[in-house]
Amino acid sequence: MRRRLPVLLFIVLVALLPVLPTPPFWITLANYIGLYAIVALGLVLLTGIGGMTSFGQAAFVGLGAYATAYLTTQLGLSPWLGLLAGLAITALTAFALGAITMRLSGHYLPLGTIAWGLSLFYLFGNLDFLGKYDGINGIPAIDLFGLTLQSGRAIYYLIWVVVILALLALQNLLDSRSGRAMRALNGSALMAEAMGVNTTWMKIVCFVLAALLACLSGWLYAHMQRAVNPTPFGLNAGIEYLFMAVVGGAGYVWGALLGSALLTILKDQLQSILPKLLGSNGNFEMIVFGVMMVLLLQRARQGLWPLLRGWMPASVGVQVPVSAELLPQRVRPAAGAVLLHVQQARKQFGGLVAVNDMEFVVHGGEILGLIGPNGAGKSTMFNLVTGVLPLTSGQILFDGQRIDTLPSREIVRRGIGRTFQHVRLLPAMSVLENVALGGHLRGHAGVLASIVRADRKEEQRLLFEAARQLERVGLGHLAQAEAGSLALGQQRVLEIARALCCDPTLLLLDEPAAGLRYQEKLALADLLRKLKAEGLSILLVEHDMDFVMNLTDRLVVMEFGTRIAEGVPAEVQANPAVLEAYLGGVD
Ligand code: ADP
Ligand code: MG
Repeated sequence: MRRRLPVLLFIVLVALLPVLPTPPFWITLANYIGLYAIVALGLVLLTGIGGMTSFGQAAFVGLGAYATAYLTTQLGLSPWLGLLAGLAITALTAFALGAITMRLSGHYLPLGTIAWGLSLFYLFGNLDFLGKYDGINGIPAIDLFGLTLQSGRAIYYLIWVVVILALLALQNLLDSRSGRAMRALNGSALMAEAMGVNTTWMKIVCFVLAALLACLSGWLYAHMQRAVNPTPFGLNAGIEYLFMAVVGGAGYVWGALLGSALLTILKDQLQSILPKLLGSNGNFEMIVFGVMMVLLLQRARQGLWPLLRGWMPASVGVQVPVSAELLPQRVRPAAGAVLLHVQQARKQFGGLVAVNDMEFVVHGGEILGLIGPNGAGKSTMFNLVTGVLPLTSGQILFDGQRIDTLPSREIVRRGIGRTFQHVRLLPAMSVLENVALGGHLRGHAGVLASIVRADRKEEQRLLFEAARQLERVGLGHLAQAEAGSLALGQQRVLEIARALCCDPTLLLLDEPAAGLRYQEKLALADLLRKLKAEGLSILLVEHDMDFVMNLTDRLVVMEFGTRIAEGVPAEVQANPAVLEAYLGGVD
């Protein structure tokens, strides 16, 4: 309850504002803040959560505004049909643009968004039927429950109901299976794919949702202003929206609101003060915004919301479910049956043969160690099995079926869980949610179900499964800690729990003992033995000979990409070729 108090206070304040003797100008300002906040919320999802920077959101606001402006004035349709049409047009446009631009990486993506932001702006300004640069006038007011929302005070409530609903929807979404996948986009796409997330698709979904929010804001704007022209939908506006999200805190839902409020009020103040100070008119406020932005990026990268949040009651985060129906489990393969079969696997990087016609088998219920000196090709072999790299030749069978032609997310679907040589977690997310990400493919709830909270039952099952896996590896007591606050050894174990949450029959570990202290190594070895006793097969890639000696059933030794020995640990340890590879022939 204490945690909800600031939110309730906020809603009461929003509700009372037009009832109190608030000057009309304040209401207008509040309306604009609401409209901007809706767009900025989309940017929180797209940029703050998904890690994709867009300068082009204003163009989607324009699509929403122009769609309804045209349909209501030229065809005499109701504003509500204008809204539906706008959303449909925006969804299609965003889907097409997203499918092209979301594949771009690095600075090409923001450049792409600038390109279509500009194109749509000039399109609005050059089309005859949209009134060219004069735009469209005489847009009707919205009718709602028999009321005509003519005045600023009247549309105020509609705007702010939309803001609050959008805020709740986004919060619900982030707090779900799809939300976790979206948060993983920004961390590591490689990791997300390995957990079964279709990252390209998820990016497009984020993009379309952000565009739909912008469109909604444009619709409200058109019916508040009762006229549209291209100016508010240009690149400048696109940059301002991004400013709002970043200043408020792009990673936080409430940051969008804070950012739009701050920048709207500041802009208004500066627009009246600066021309007086400087003695001439112009968009001087942009200079102040620019300076502010640079300072902010230096001092508070996360935006202002995290600073403000420090003053509020701490949030408890996602609760650990006490009980839930168990998720279905895969059938374990029979002990001793061939599970993974690597056949003549070869990988060349240009002239370098990193993996040279490797051949080995992992049986059901077995721990196989793949060892070799640094640079032997172990990680490359690992990446071939997990679908991160394509084979040059040869094939890999799992459970009798070829997997070497599949992407990572399909390989994990078949029951191969993995960890990473360099830990890949979402450090700001709780340990429990990090592990739950591993269960991505065991849930089915989509974005819409999450937004309306129809996913709660499944979500409890997923979180309960994550909690069970954490107990299984001995990290149960840390479920609600931030993953980034754990020691390296614990982070590695967390990754194992996350891999277990995929319900794998084969677990692939790349140098799990690297960087661990002696005691931690012993504990890890105990854990792996326990997992094996529970019927799991493990392929362990390791550099450290001592670690694997008492742990594995069999060893395969690689050197320069080639298998130089295979057998039980004692045999391999005595093999002259292995001694030569590891010790350079001493002894
Ligand atoms: P290990 O994990 O056994 O230490 P790696 O599989 O990382 O070895 O590397 C095997 C060899 O392949 C090394 O010589 C390494 O430099 C080379 N290699 C690995 N990845 C690439 C790559 N993406 N491009 C070019 N060469 C690579
Ligand atoms: Mg390696």
